[in-house]
Amino acid sequence: MSPPAPGGRAQSAPLMGRAAEPTIFELSAPGRRSWQLRTTDVPEWPAEELVAAEHRRRAPVPLAEVSERDLVAHVTRLSHRQYSVDLGAYPLGSCTMKYNPKSCDTVAALRGLAGVHPAAPASTSQGWLALLVELEEALCAITGMAAATFQPAAGAAGELTGLLLMRAYHDAHGQRRRRVIIPDSAHGTNPASVSLGGYEVTTVPSDDRGCVDMAALRGVLDGDVAGIMLTNPNTLGLFEEDIEAIATAVHEVGGLLYYDGANLNAILGVVRPGDMGFDIVHLNLHKTFATPHGGGGPGAGPVAVSERLADFLPGPRPVRVPEDDGTTRYGREMPPRSIGRVHSWHGNALVLARALAYIRVHGGDGLRRVAERAVLNANWLRVRLSSTYDVPFDRPCMHEVVLAAATLKRRYGLRALDVAKCLLDEGFHAPTVYFPLVVEEALMVEPTETESPQTLDALAEAFERIAAAAAADGGLDAAHAAPRTTPVGRLDEARAARTLVPTFDARGG
Ligand SMILES: *Cc1c(COP(=O)(O)O)cnc(C)c1O
Repeated sequence: MSPPAPGGRAQSAPLMGRAAEPTIFELSAPGRRSWQLRTTDVPEWPAEELVAAEHRRRAPVPLAEVSERDLVAHVTRLSHRQYSVDLGAYPLGSCTMKYNPKSCDTVAALRGLAGVHPAAPASTSQGWLALLVELEEALCAITGMAAATFQPAAGAAGELTGLLLMRAYHDAHGQRRRRVIIPDSAHGTNPASVSLGGYEVTTVPSDDRGCVDMAALRGVLDGDVAGIMLTNPNTLGLFEEDIEAIATAVHEVGGLLYYDGANLNAILGVVRPGDMGFDIVHLNLHKTFATPHGGGGPGAGPVAVSERLADFLPGPRPVRVPEDDGTTRYGREMPPRSIGRVHSWHGNALVLARALAYIRVHGGDGLRRVAERAVLNANWLRVRLSSTYDVPFDRPCMHEVVLAAATLKRRYGLRALDVAKCLLDEGFHAPTVYFPLVVEEALMVEPTETESPQTLDALAEAFERIAAAAAADGGLDAAHAAPRTTPVGRLDEARAARTLVPTFDARGG
């Protein structure tokens, strides 16, 4: 047998196969408890005396009654069924779940940070305010912007904030502009935010290089354009080479440039949106800066802007206050022409603490290395897999490579979805599939900076094995039966989307 793949297979497959384990409800026995309290002489109060009859349940909640030992085994067993970023590669990448240094979590859990109430006066939360000011300066240095707000709680919230800033800026110049331009490859939140912000979407197509079609862009630019929203690298993982020409053309008609910096993994410390000509940038700290996007926890989508937009930022903002004696105090300040609050306090603060820890752990040169390795890893996979999969835009990519199963589908019937399910049996998490929408049978692979050459090699081998197996006799049927090693097999997607009510009995497991 070959050595175990650095993916998840070696660690999780043996546990996943044990289907015969009793459920926690089968272990349940009436009156069994997972806690013990010492006997005291405090009399037990009957529930009837404490809670009025109309507020009491008629029957107890049907919960499992088990010992602490069985409860811990149950929860631990469930945790082993879960594919984890700590166990194996996650080619969904930084956009969902990149591996991050554990030291960042340690910082976010510090009692001195986690225990502070956001309403505490500035005089007793100087440390927090100093941290926020330092983070703002770091993010401005990384993006080439002048000032930032931390309030937006997610990327989409940052986009809406950015569009409100765009509107405030044009209003201040007495201009009513109605349209915002978006390329056809954009993330779905972009057009949604434009509509929410009260603007109309004008779409520009991508050209055959996968970049904004300059001629088409010039064709839609006029005095009615409030701005353009771009991601660079774009969602095809490609760098917009004409970005300077785009910036000049948009600025010439009085529009602003909005940078969707949800994912900064590709450009950290290498290029800055401000130097490309952008006026507004949002960052997803829950993608690039140490908080995972997956898992549904809180996020942070700070918005950084150039000098001419700083006065419109939401507030109050944490600021340095110079004292007469030469020392510095930290306080909060409302920008003079602020659009107002977009979130309570300073947003999701512990995500911000984690981001500053990430930036400080790496330092400027370390952040650059993150980007360089992320890009190198994606390009290594692009070249290696170009003989088995389609590479729709076969030129150097950035932090992610868009592959496609279009040819495999035509030849053998193997779809991107099948490849994704087969990868689960190979011990890897699946990559993003069917996005970007402009690519047929798309498989968007983002290996991230932390994977070793051995892991990349194992991932590439898995991709190759899946393609080769589809060509063999009966290969397609086997692919359609995947995944077979996971606790749940192939789902009926249409039914799963339409029937949101779970059809299993929670007590039966
Ligand atoms: C993830 C993402 C968003 C949206 O961010 P949320 O925090 O999920 O709202 C926007 N644009 C791009 C390019 C993204 O990748």
